[in-house]
Amino acid sequence: MNDYYAVLGVSRSASQEEIKKAYRRLARRLHPDVNPGLEAEEEFKRVSQAYDVLSDPQKRQAFDMGADPFASGGGAGFGDGQGFSFSDVMDAFFGGGAAGGARGPRSRVQRGQDALVRLDIDLAKAVFGSEEELVIDTAVGCGTCGGDGAQPGTGRQTCPICKGRGEVQQVQRSLLGQVMTSRPCVNCQGYGATLTDPCHECSGDGRVRTRRSLTLKVPAGVDTGTRIQLTGQGEVGPGNGPAGDVYVEVRVANHDTYTRRGDDLHATVELPMAAAALGTSFKLSTFDGMQDLDIRAGTQTGDVMTLRGLGVTHLRSGGRGDLHVHANVLTPTRLTEEQADLLRRLAELRGEERPEGRLQPNKGLFGKLRDAFKEK
Ligand SMILES: [Zn+2]
Ligand SMILES: [Zn+2]
Repeated sequence: MNDYYAVLGVSRSASQEEIKKAYRRLARRLHPDVNPGLEAEEEFKRVSQAYDVLSDPQKRQAFDMGADPFASGGGAGFGDGQGFSFSDVMDAFFGGGAAGGARGPRSRVQRGQDALVRLDIDLAKAVFGSEEELVIDTAVGCGTCGGDGAQPGTGRQTCPICKGRGEVQQVQRSLLGQVMTSRPCVNCQGYGATLTDPCHECSGDGRVRTRRSLTLKVPAGVDTGTRIQLTGQGEVGPGNGPAGDVYVEVRVANHDTYTRRGDDLHATVELPMAAAALGTSFKLSTFDGMQDLDIRAGTQTGDVMTLRGLGVTHLRSGGRGDLHVHANVLTPTRLTEEQADLLRRLAELRGEERPEGRLQPNKGLFGKLRDAFKEK
C-alpha cells in the first residue's frame, strides 16, 4: 500500500496548506513538461495521486482509516494510458474546473433542451379537465442523414489541427515555469473530427426545426401556475440525441361571474329586496348546468348558500370543492309614485317611518374581523 504522506514528505498531521505546498514544490520539479523522462513521469504520477487523496478531506479520511482509492488499479484519470494533461496540476492549484471536467473530444450526440409552453384555458376546463391541441416549435431528427450529420455517402475526417483530441494545448509562462493549458479546438468545435460534407438538409446538426402538434390531456383541478410535464416530447438533441421534455404551464383565465378560491367557487347573486324578504327560488347557471337555488325568506346581504360538490375537481384526490353563492340584496331605486306609496305604507305598518339610527352591536362583518384579530 502506498504511503501518500511519505510520497509528499509531510507528516500525518499536516494541514491542507502544508500538503498543497509540498505538492507544489514536487510538481514544479517533476512535471514532465519541466523534467522529461520516464522516471520523473512515474514519480510525478505518484505525487499527483498522493495529492489527489490527501487534498480531499473525504479521501484523506478514508485513507487514514486504511482504504486506498488507487490500490485497486482504478484511478481518477491516471490509468487511461493517455498520460495526463498539465491542467490536472492547474486544477490542483487553482481550484479545478479550469479546463472543464471531461477530457477528450466531446460527443456530437447531446440531450435536447427542455421547453416551456404556456397554455391559457378557461375556468370550466379547470373544473372538469380538457383535451388541448398544442402546437410547438421543436426539432426532430434529420431524415436525410438519420441524425449523423454527414451527407449520405460521405464521412468524417479526424481533425488535423487537434489530431482528434478535440482540444489544443498552449504553452504559457507562469509561476511554475512553462505551463500547458488546453482549450477546445476551434477547427472542429471540440468534436475531434470534421464532416467532409455536412448533410445538406440539417447542415450537420443531425436535426431539423419543425412545428409539431400534440394532444395534451389537462387534468381536472389545474390552476394558474400548474405545470404539466410531457417527458420526451421536447426537441431531440444535436446528433439525434435523446429528446428533452416539454413543460406546459397552465394559466386559468378569470371568469366573468365565478371566482375560484382553492377548489371552491364563489359567485354573488343579486336579490331584489322584496324577493329577499319573501323568499324565492330560481335556476342558477353553474358549470354543472342549471341548478335549483332556494332563497329563504329574510335573506340578508352577505348570506351564503352552499351547493356541495359543485366546485373545482381536486387535482389529486378527485373529489370536488363546493359552490358558494353570496346574496346581495338590492335596494330598489327610481321608484314610481305608486311604488313609493306602497313602501311608505309598508314602513307605516312596520313602524319604520322614522328609524332611530340605532347602532348595531359588533357582530356582522366588522365584529368578525375584530374577533379574528383578538384571537391572534
Ligand atoms: Zn441531416
Ligand atoms: Zn480539432
